[in-house]
Amino acid sequence: MNEFEAKDKEFIWHPFTQMKSWRETPQTVIVAAQGNKLIDQDGREYYDGVSSLWVNIHGHRKKEIDAAIIEQLGKVAHSTMLGLANVPASQLAEMLVEIAPAGLRKVFYSDDGSTAMEVAIKIAFQYWQHKGLGKKCRFVALEQAYHGDTVGTVSVGGIDLFHRVFKPLLFDPIQVPSPSCYHCRFAASPEECCGECVAAMEKVLAEQHEQIAAVVLEPLVQAAAGMLMSPPGYLAKIRELTRRFNVLLIVDEVATGFGRTGKMFACEHEDVSPDLMALSKGITGGYLPLAATLTTDEIYNAFLGEMSDKKTFYHGHSYTGNPLACAAAVANLRIFQNEKVIEALPAKVETIRRYLTPLRQLAHVGDVRQCGLIVGIELMADPANKVPYAWHCGMGAQVCMKAREYGLFIRPVGDVVVFMPPLSTTHAELKHMLQIICRSVEEATSREAEPVAVSGAHF
Ligand SMILES: *Cc1c(COP(=O)(O)O)cnc(C)c1O
Repeated sequence: MNEFEAKDKEFIWHPFTQMKSWRETPQTVIVAAQGNKLIDQDGREYYDGVSSLWVNIHGHRKKEIDAAIIEQLGKVAHSTMLGLANVPASQLAEMLVEIAPAGLRKVFYSDDGSTAMEVAIKIAFQYWQHKGLGKKCRFVALEQAYHGDTVGTVSVGGIDLFHRVFKPLLFDPIQVPSPSCYHCRFAASPEECCGECVAAMEKVLAEQHEQIAAVVLEPLVQAAAGMLMSPPGYLAKIRELTRRFNVLLIVDEVATGFGRTGKMFACEHEDVSPDLMALSKGITGGYLPLAATLTTDEIYNAFLGEMSDKKTFYHGHSYTGNPLACAAAVANLRIFQNEKVIEALPAKVETIRRYLTPLRQLAHVGDVRQCGLIVGIELMADPANKVPYAWHCGMGAQVCMKAREYGLFIRPVGDVVVFMPPLSTTHAELKHMLQIICRSVEEATSREAEPVAVSGAHF
């Protein structure tokens, strides 16, 4: 066993990981990366098929981002935003406002997706108190939602496996059905599914809007739930309803932001401007932890007053607006402009669609879902009758381990094999990665399903 694998197994507790099986199986130690590939301790290379969990955008060791961080290091690595401003944070805020949906004009920084959402929830809650409508204090969230792992964001989460154990600690949201067509319990077609899910939301808002502060949702794709994709029109309809019933809309673009869906933000697909928007994952191009919660002048202005009015938003983190992270993010956004990254995406989305076709024919593939550069391949023991594999088979994880043998790193969410490559992935690389996935699904699912110990089967 490699020295660092041994130290890892002795000292580290990994996220979302059953450490017993982690320690019992060989693990890969990443020592370097180049472009869209990761390199391990033995010099083996793997395509980064999950963009290092959504964060990588332009590939690893991108010259311009490396240079921006080094340049900023020659000035100052960190200074606090409590009582001081800094250059990269100011530059980045302006750039974010320029590219964000219309009306989002103020930027509150934090460190990760969970805190960006936590901030959005707290701002929405306090906003109604300043407006003299303090009874509006509840949140509407979707079933199967994932907004992070802090107690506030777990409260609006809906993934039983992750969230149930913490139930006694949480505040209680109003849950509405997840608009996921493949799993829809209402209807056969996306149009009917959309109608039913919108109707369920309308009923809740009509009856309880006087108690509701905000609707919270992941636009277009519920990622952690297994790339559940909502029918066209759903997001725009929810925006319409929240306006009609005087309820705020909080959009969690932590996963979908920065080009993932084929446009800069998922909201653009349905011309939606939310009241609050959470950003993180791709914001620094996969270099440093940073997050932002964007909001409107209307909400920001509701917090203005004299010190004695006690309208201040009392929330902040030690590394809020960190100059190094903001410098990386500024460089990240400049690459979007200079290399016309968004303009190149439709052709890549089409390449993915083309090479997903053979997967749809495989015997144990129930559903293949795609939204831009986000793909979910749902495996089923019996697709015709939608019978899933037994939990202990770890079929999704088996496919991912096969893919790793062929030089592609991907992760399962249960039995959904997920694929979200860096935006910089070339057409040839996309083709190669999808061929590996196809071969891995075919080989893993053609064996008699037998239980295996696979570490970290989720996420
Ligand atoms: C990953 C994720 C989060 C949490 O972000 P962290 O940086 O892991 O805290 C929140 N919302 C969505 C939609 C996510 O995908």
